[in-house]
Amino acid sequence: MGELEIVQVPQLKDNYAYVLHCRDEGVACVVDCSEPPAVLAVIRDLGAKLVALWATHHHWDHIGGHEELLAEDAKLEVYGSSYDMENGRVPGQTRGLVDGESVQIGRHTARALDVPAHTLGHVAYYFEGAKAVFCGDTLFGAGCGRLFEGTPELMHRALNEVLGVLPGDTRVFCGHEYTESNLRFALHVDGDNPAVVERYDSVREARARGESTVPSTMALELQTNPFMRIGEVPLQEAARAHGVADLKDAAQVLGAIRALKDGFS
Ligand code: FE
Ligand code: ZN
Repeated sequence: MGELEIVQVPQLKDNYAYVLHCRDEGVACVVDCSEPPAVLAVIRDLGAKLVALWATHHHWDHIGGHEELLAEDAKLEVYGSSYDMENGRVPGQTRGLVDGESVQIGRHTARALDVPAHTLGHVAYYFEGAKAVFCGDTLFGAGCGRLFEGTPELMHRALNEVLGVLPGDTRVFCGHEYTESNLRFALHVDGDNPAVVERYDSVREARARGESTVPSTMALELQTNPFMRIGEVPLQEAARAHGVADLKDAAQVLGAIRALKDGFS
């Protein structure tokens, strides 16, 4: 079986969609499409047939392309979380995924991981074979999504008990190019961490060349992402300074770091 082909497609100002192509069967799906023309051009160049839309969550910058794509082909499968299906907030959704459920693109199998926090419906698509996870707005390069609907407890679970335990060589394909600004915050709260300093330098250079900083790897996130380092001294001190009394309460620490990030510019 050939490898899963992954093509990153810039969308809007700083979003990424991903075309996932099974060469063996000539079929493709797209994760988080908001602007169909760029995605359709990629699929045409691959000579693939688009068969499914995979949504991580219902925000418009991730599903804004569904209606236009469905108008072209009403038979497209549309996947998203069971929560979003129940609430009817992913246009055209045909299947609501529960935690651990398998989904296929051609001969490649992904596991749907339920990672609510940024929103209460949020799926990450994990390909163990391809060593890749598509995590939308839950985990970003050196950061995490804002808590629009969920709680610090949910974000702690998603980052540190679900995504963070995937193999270190898993490639992290997130929903936005936010790595450079996230690392500015990481330097602020964890600036003595040489891995953060080194990543900031290399990310700044990559951005100056106009390159994407996504994907990273889970191992790099564990070394540099403040929200995955909440047990480490600098993050604990930042949380204490923000008023957290019980530093053993991981969710409270994460919540404090998230609040600090919200106020950081
Ligand atoms: Fe979002
Ligand atoms: Zn987004």
